[in-house]
Amino acid sequence: MAGKIKAIRGMRDILPPETGRWQAVENAAREAFALYGYRELRLPLIERTELFARSIGADTDIVSKEMYTFPDRHGDSLTLRPEATASVLRAVLENRLDQGAGVKKLYTLGPMFRYERPQKGRYRQFHQINCEALGSDAPELDAEVILLLMEILKRVQLGTSRLLVNSLGCPECQKKFKEGLSLFLSQKQGLCEDCLRRRVTNPLRVLDCKSVHCKEILKDAPVLKDYLCPDCAVHYARVLSLLSRFGVTYEEQPRLVRGLDYYSRTAFEVVAVGLGAQDAVAGGGRYNGLAQELGGPELPAIGFAIGEDRLLEVLPPELGQEKNRKIFLAALGPAARDQAFSLLQTLRREGVPGEMDFGERSLKAQMSLADRLGAAYTVILGDRELETGKATLRRMATGDQQEVSLSLLPMVLAGL
Ligand SMILES: [Zn+2]
Ligand SMILES: [Zn+2]
Repeated sequence: MAGKIKAIRGMRDILPPETGRWQAVENAAREAFALYGYRELRLPLIERTELFARSIGADTDIVSKEMYTFPDRHGDSLTLRPEATASVLRAVLENRLDQGAGVKKLYTLGPMFRYERPQKGRYRQFHQINCEALGSDAPELDAEVILLLMEILKRVQLGTSRLLVNSLGCPECQKKFKEGLSLFLSQKQGLCEDCLRRRVTNPLRVLDCKSVHCKEILKDAPVLKDYLCPDCAVHYARVLSLLSRFGVTYEEQPRLVRGLDYYSRTAFEVVAVGLGAQDAVAGGGRYNGLAQELGGPELPAIGFAIGEDRLLEVLPPELGQEKNRKIFLAALGPAARDQAFSLLQTLRREGVPGEMDFGERSLKAQMSLADRLGAAYTVILGDRELETGKATLRRMATGDQQEVSLSLLPMVLAGL
């Protein structure tokens, strides 16, 4: 006998009524994006492996350990996207969306894939809402992108959270900082094996090492802010002052570096209070050099990703619960079923959600089905009701019943 096939470890089914909460988050995001002038992109989930190796950085955990990479039937190396920004930029450059004046404002929603150890709120297929604004290095754009993120989080009723902000500087600042950091690290004993390697290949990566011992050593490490060139310092100060002007509370977090290689200047994260310190619900930053890294022109850009799985863990349970107007039509006998079927279509034309049972089941069985479907009201229609021209309307929560004339029924139900 064949065994049952189950979902892959770290992958999950998202089922109703939970899906209603997802829709609420995504609808709120779409509304906020429209308000700020963003338009949607829908992109493939699979890209050439090279795209991620070049953009994210070969020495990141993502590329070295966490990607779902496989050869296709021609032997080309393909990867399930571990994040969206590289794909967005690939699509922008390939379709020449970067041409013309003005900032190009794009968003995309969908699943990402990383082979990580599954744990609460962390899945191997996880879902992001991604925002990307391309074509300007103005600090106003940084502030606007952060304001947009906060607008979305407000609309989904995220409770207490902390916005962490840092500046990673331009490549020149980063070069000087890396030298300072390398010097600091070369004087320290006891770094983990990964960090001993990173100290040479990419010292910035040492900053997000998860080893407790490395973290302890890094407490006294130099911070990027002290290495900012005058331009980067002015840019950063302007972003912070704009956030203050619009009442956005932020905390400067000098050790915030983000897990990817391509960031420059503004970097930020939103951490929901109650989740672990590493569990940011959203994060983003500037990636001015990424387009050129991918063979494109100079294209300053900034964006963010909201982790939907983690965000939904901390949102209020009532999110996405609209007023229940669902009607169940319990019909007894062929004539009543026929009448109910017509009524069902009339209700749906009026925008009232309704259902009925097409079988020939008892009233008791139909009432329990109505309960299971979560109906707010049930209409009972039988031969007697057809004769008297009156149906019984039952409110499921209380069991209260009243008689309603059949001719008035559509109007009454539409007004519930
Ligand atoms: Zn700089
Ligand atoms: Zn380490």
